[in-house]
Amino acid sequence: MGTIPSETIEQIAAANDIIEVIGSYFPLKRAGANFKALCPFHQEKTPSFMVSPSRQTFHCFGCGVGGSVFRFVMDYEHVDFPSAVRKLAARSGITIVEKRGAADEERQYETRGTLLKLHAEAAEWFHENLVKREVGEPARKYLKKRGITAEIAKRWQLGYAPDEWDALGSWARARGYDARDLITSGLVRTKDEADSDQNQISNLKPQTSYDRFRGRIMFPIHNDVGEVIAFSGRLLKDEEGAAKYLNSPETPLFRKGNVLFGLHKTKRALIEADCAIVCEGQIDLISLFEAGITNVVAPQGTAFTENQARILKRFVDEVVLCFDSDAAGAKAAERSLDALLQNDLIVRVVELPVGEDPDSLVRREGKEKFENRVASAQDFFDYWIEREMEAADVSSLGAKMQVARRLAETVSRVHDPLMRGEVVNRASARLGVSPADFGTLLSTRPRGTASSEGPESARAQAAPGPRHDIAMLCLLALRDEPARNFLLAQNWRETLEQAPDAEILIRILQSELHPDDPASLSAFMATLPPAEEALVSAWLLQKVPAAAETMVEKWWLGIRHAVLRRRLKAAQNRIRLPELSTGDIVNLQKQILDLQEQLREFSQPAGAADN
Ligand SMILES: [Zn+2]
Repeated sequence: MGTIPSETIEQIAAANDIIEVIGSYFPLKRAGANFKALCPFHQEKTPSFMVSPSRQTFHCFGCGVGGSVFRFVMDYEHVDFPSAVRKLAARSGITIVEKRGAADEERQYETRGTLLKLHAEAAEWFHENLVKREVGEPARKYLKKRGITAEIAKRWQLGYAPDEWDALGSWARARGYDARDLITSGLVRTKDEADSDQNQISNLKPQTSYDRFRGRIMFPIHNDVGEVIAFSGRLLKDEEGAAKYLNSPETPLFRKGNVLFGLHKTKRALIEADCAIVCEGQIDLISLFEAGITNVVAPQGTAFTENQARILKRFVDEVVLCFDSDAAGAKAAERSLDALLQNDLIVRVVELPVGEDPDSLVRREGKEKFENRVASAQDFFDYWIEREMEAADVSSLGAKMQVARRLAETVSRVHDPLMRGEVVNRASARLGVSPADFGTLLSTRPRGTASSEGPESARAQAAPGPRHDIAMLCLLALRDEPARNFLLAQNWRETLEQAPDAEILIRILQSELHPDDPASLSAFMATLPPAEEALVSAWLLQKVPAAAETMVEKWWLGIRHAVLRRRLKAAQNRIRLPELSTGDIVNLQKQILDLQEQLREFSQPAGAADN
């Protein structure tokens, strides 16, 4: 990826007033010099979310998030930094010229660009095959039979890949894409498909490759910002030995386990509902969405991966699985469980009538009935306990123990202690054993590592913050021009590199920010990791202490004093070590004298050093 020059970031920050940007998402109320609102990032009844027009920052004193206008768009829209910058640039009509990095980075950037363009154009070509060309007739008929109108096909840019070996390949070559691009994109594969040797691929002649997707309805798969990055193709005519669904392979654009189908269209609805309906297929998702049930996602493939679950957790706390009622559906549900529970998602299950899928059901019953099914969906554990108990003869003690052990294994995956206790109670009641006995079956191995950080750990929280003296200097260096200049005139780098906890102050001093220019503050904040950005946003909302100039000197001298004392102590310890050379000893003695001399200056009354 190219990097966006900091001047451009500043320019974009200056052109996007944070009050207007945040105010376009939800109303802000004036509160003195600032604006306030109920925090969109945590549940609260009284507003602790503050926005400062003069500093151009936001900060929530409830959950600790905060930062520049870019951070807000990133957190609120769930997009990465470059996307947030592009969004705000577009909002204010600024064009971004990205600086490129090293040759390697540049090549990657170009490959990505080519692949994105190829995917966008291929999606359009597949779509035109479906809606305009003769070859798409059987696919049109099929979709019509499944209730997918031309408008829906257009909204989701559905397409058709002709049942030919080189239809896409020859179309793409005619547009100037070379064999290597096509193979890297995964749209075309080599004859020797097991061969993944990159060197050989670059020497390929066109005729040694063929289209991956043939005779398939094509569903474009999008990333967060709505760019096509892969495809899923459904076989039009069932063929023996051919997979019904085929996905793009892993490419520089597409990591299968990281993408949820439909997310670019459904994320707002997910956040609003705080609940995701998960269905298996693309058609299920499209049908539900078009019927007005919009908080839906579909994993690519059968079960949830760890990454998909983590992505989902950013949007919702609860997941309702809507898998087919057959054995395969139940298996998919069970396999999804691990990832979902580890991310502390509440999981419920809709039991579909035999032979139905979400698509057929919502068509037959309509939106309201389907919503009722979702609302009354069983808790996953109840559903699971039910199924296990039905399958086993629990009148025999041996069979009962076996069920108990299997249940315990699943319950062990829950790492939220409250949720775990609740499930243990229910499972043990159902089995007719005491919770304590059931508890002995649970594995004590803690799952996941983030559990101790509490429920908010996924989000950028303000770090505990540095020591008070460093924090005061950070505040002053951010807010007060004379104080900042005072610090810059000292040997700040040398001193702070030896002071504990001072990394953030070093960052503040080495950046080219201007305390009175909010755009430069925004550009600076954009260089920080989220926890530090949240800290800075808190400092920016604090009052600058009166008498900043004497304060800065006092805090600075305190830190300098401590550093000198520590260095002196270290040198005095070192000189007692055995086996020092005479040269070492002389050097250390000199150091000690020098440090003692410097420290003596501190005992003179403050202010005597200058003038
Ligand atoms: Zn908050």
